[in-house]
Amino acid sequence: MSQQHPVLVIHGGLTERAVKGRHLISVQESLHIKLESVFTKLNKGMSALEAVTLACAAMEDDPLYNAGYGSKIQSDGKIRMSASIMDGFSRRFGGCVNVEGVKNPIYLAHDLMKEKDRVLSGQGAARFAKERGLPFSSPFTPHQRAAFQNKKRGKSGTIGAVALDLRGRLAAGTSTGGKGFEYPFRVSDSPTCAGNFASAFCAVSATGTGEEIVEQAAASTLCAFVEAGLSLNQALNKLVSRSRRFDAEFGFIAVDRHGNFKVAQTTQHVIWGAANRRGIKLLK
Ligand code: ASP
Repeated sequence: MSQQHPVLVIHGGLTERAVKGRHLISVQESLHIKLESVFTKLNKGMSALEAVTLACAAMEDDPLYNAGYGSKIQSDGKIRMSASIMDGFSRRFGGCVNVEGVKNPIYLAHDLMKEKDRVLSGQGAARFAKERGLPFSSPFTPHQRAAFQNKKRGKSGTIGAVALDLRGRLAAGTSTGGKGFEYPFRVSDSPTCAGNFASAFCAVSATGTGEEIVEQAAASTLCAFVEAGLSLNQALNKLVSRSRRFDAEFGFIAVDRHGNFKVAQTTQHVIWGAANRRGIKLLK
C-alpha cells in the first residue's frame, strides 16, 4: 500500500432548504472545529477507522445535529438511535439499531465491529454497551422536545464521516436519530450497508430518506461501481441519475482510494465539510 495524502469528509445531514444566515455560520464553525481537530490526527498517522469514529462522536455530542445528543424523537416519545461503522481495509462492519440512552452510538458500533455478532439492536445493543462500560446519557434536547410536541414529522438528519488515511485505508461511519415522529422502532438505513459502506476502493456515508437509500442500496452500490472500474465521478453520476428516476431523496459523501472526494445529492442540500492537504472546504 503506497503512502497517501489523507482526506476527511464529514456531513451533518440533508436539509430541505439551503442553510443560510446565522445558522450557516454556526454550522460552518461547528464543522470547521471538528475537521481541524480530527484531520490533524489523521495527518499524523491516525487510522481512517479511528478518524471517522472520532469525527462522528464529535458530531453526536453537538446538539446541532440529529444524532446522539440532539437526536429526533420517535412517535411514542422515545429516542432510539442507530449507527454503523465500516473499515474498508478489513471489510468489517459493526452497527447498532434503535439503541436507547447510549451517549455515543458510534463508539458502540466501533466496539461491535470486532465481535462475532456485529450488529445488535435495542436492549441487546444497550446491554453490550453496559458490559463495555460505554457512557450513557439523555439525548433529549429542548429543540427536539418542541419538535415532538408539534408532531413534527421530519424527513432527514443524520451525521457521517468518511476518511482515507496515510496508509491508503478507507473507512465510513454514520449515526442517526432517525426521521423524527416515525413509527416506533422504525429502522433507518444508517446501520445498514445501504447507508454506510467502505471497501478498499471507496468509502460512503449517506443521508436522506432511509427507505429510499435502502431501495437504491446507495452506499454499497456506489462502492461496487468504483470497484468495477468507474471513476468516483462516473459512479456517482450513475447512482444519482438512476435514483432520480425513482424520486429517491438522499445525499452522500464519498472518498476513493486516490483521495478524490465528492458530495452529491439527488435533491435538496447536504451539510458538509472536507479537509485534505489543500485545507478545509465547507458548504457555503
Ligand atoms: N437516513 C436517516 C433515516 O432515514 C435520516 C437522514 O439521514 O436524514 O432515518
